[in-house]
Amino acid sequence: MSRGRRKPDWLKSRPPSGSRFTEIKSTLRDRDLHTVCEEANCPNMGECWSGEDGPGTATFMLMGDRCSRGCNFCDVETGGMEALDPEEPANVADAVAEIGLDYVVLTSVDRDDLADGGSAHFAETIRAIKRRDPEILVETLIPDFQGDPEAIDRIIDAEPDVIAHNVETVERLQWPVRDRRANYEQSLSVLDRVDKKSDIHTKTSLMLGVGEYDHEVYRTLGDLREVGVDVVTFGQYLQPSRSHLDVFEYVHPDVFETWRRVAETEFDFLYCASGAMVRSSYKAGELFVEALVREGRSPEDARRRARAAGGD
Ligand code: SF4
Repeated sequence: MSRGRRKPDWLKSRPPSGSRFTEIKSTLRDRDLHTVCEEANCPNMGECWSGEDGPGTATFMLMGDRCSRGCNFCDVETGGMEALDPEEPANVADAVAEIGLDYVVLTSVDRDDLADGGSAHFAETIRAIKRRDPEILVETLIPDFQGDPEAIDRIIDAEPDVIAHNVETVERLQWPVRDRRANYEQSLSVLDRVDKKSDIHTKTSLMLGVGEYDHEVYRTLGDLREVGVDVVTFGQYLQPSRSHLDVFEYVHPDVFETWRRVAETEFDFLYCASGAMVRSSYKAGELFVEALVREGRSPEDARRRARAAGGD
């Protein structure tokens, strides 16, 4: 356990600043929108929002800032969810246009309290953005909708460019890392359904440093390829507060690099972003998908482009 252990140097990040950052913040507040960047206190916010190599990235968090679940690694508030804001899809599309994003990541809290888990609202937001500008690439990081096939199909039918769903960790550690309503098989079934029912790229993320063994990570990569996952990311778990899960280990950057190589060379993932500060929607995947979708490059070429641009 790492209680009170000093964070290693490779986990240092620059606090967000600058006019671009302030601009984006005011656009979001004006429209009463949430981002996972802010809610999860993401260490990359400064970099992503300042958009040094392009228009920048922000991950919109739909359906409020309170979740129906309580995962032990997550900083989002649990319970007390509010009614959905019917204006949110249009407000997000407006904010995307105002900020000038050409790659948008949409995620949400879990809304087990809603009959469709919020899938119709999520799908309408994708459509609102694409109606506004069909050129914009939309990546969605969806909940498991308790494995409900109709809910997953609603997202597929809205035709985002990427559908991500995070397994978060290896099978043995699903509990206590994730809420008991989440589980490994259910998450694999979500990714499997997207793969079987569409050509949309799929993606998932794992946190390292919560007590996983190497052989478990290796097995997870195999399970993910079996359900057709294209992109995988690895990042370091960071404890949001003392009441959250302890960090079991600060994983060395060399280990992250090893997993990147294993994922791409042994398991043939189209792309793997792996690094202590990598988060599921860190710019890595975007650069790859842009190269793949927008520029029609081959996966190898898209990887080279993403790496050359320092995507991870
Ligand atoms: S489902 Fe878990 S990880 Fe996702 S927002 Fe809710 S508490 Fe956080």
